Amino acid sequence: MPELPEVEIARRNLARWFQDHRVLRAEADATRVFRGARRAKFSELTGRVEALDRKGKYLLLTFEGGRGLLAHLGMTGKFVRRPEGHVEPYSRARFHLDDGFVIHLRDPRLFGRMEPAPAERLRQLEAVKLLGRDPLVDGLTAEQLKEEVGSSRQDIKVALMDQERIAGLGNIYAAEALFRAGIHPARKPSTLKPAEWEALTQAIHETFATALAEEQGEEPIYLEERTSENPFLVYGRAGGPCSKCGARVESFPQGGRTTHSCPKCQPKGGRVRKRSTPPPRR
Ligand SMILES: [Zn+2]
Repeated sequence: MPELPEVEIARRNLARWFQDHRVLRAEADATRVFRGARRAKFSELTGRVEALDRKGKYLLLTFEGGRGLLAHLGMTGKFVRRPEGHVEPYSRARFHLDDGFVIHLRDPRLFGRMEPAPAERLRQLEAVKLLGRDPLVDGLTAEQLKEEVGSSRQDIKVALMDQERIAGLGNIYAAEALFRAGIHPARKPSTLKPAEWEALTQAIHETFATALAEEQGEEPIYLEERTSENPFLVYGRAGGPCSKCGARVESFPQGGRTTHSCPKCQPKGGRVRKRSTPPPRR
């Protein structure tokens, strides 16, 4: 499922494809990706794309003339670029460009979402307005992470996935960040020590940077779609050895999703800090 890095890659791709080109024609099929939005407005999304922004897992497209589009890739949505005339399976909406290419929204499972709206209103739409801090767009310090997440009574992993607190972290990258930071996913945020907030903040940035570096390319394959070796440190490794210490990776249900963690690298009670020098004897 696309999380912040995948949506950021989509944004970069779209920016590159739209640059110096005009949309000659826009069309969308009658599918549920429009939810309650007015599909007819999609055909007005022509001309130049003047801005392409992202907030959390949402893309905000500004077309010339002040028309706009809010797009969410859902579980299986992806923008792909194909030559004119190519029939793309699961194509739900299309931008025909003046360079002979067509940008398709491909979405086999139809959990994506499209909402045409005036560009100036995109950030006022409920889904966007409620979003919390985006670590890439807005930056994220340990103080800010603690401020957003520290007051939650939910488990730390569930709190991290709350888009109204931090925008962009989903099941995969929340698990990866907690593993990097050595924090058990079921810890309560109120029990985290200052050093752990620091470690977790750094881990979130590292996790996103790693994913972005891995997914560069014309048409990214979502990491979880890969059939080759599991690229994650802990996600999807239940029952197998931890990539760091070799202990058996555990999985358990949490907030309606499956969480993966290492019992040794992410002890439930937190890490016991060893004193560097023994206390003086009397
Ligand atoms: Zn481990």
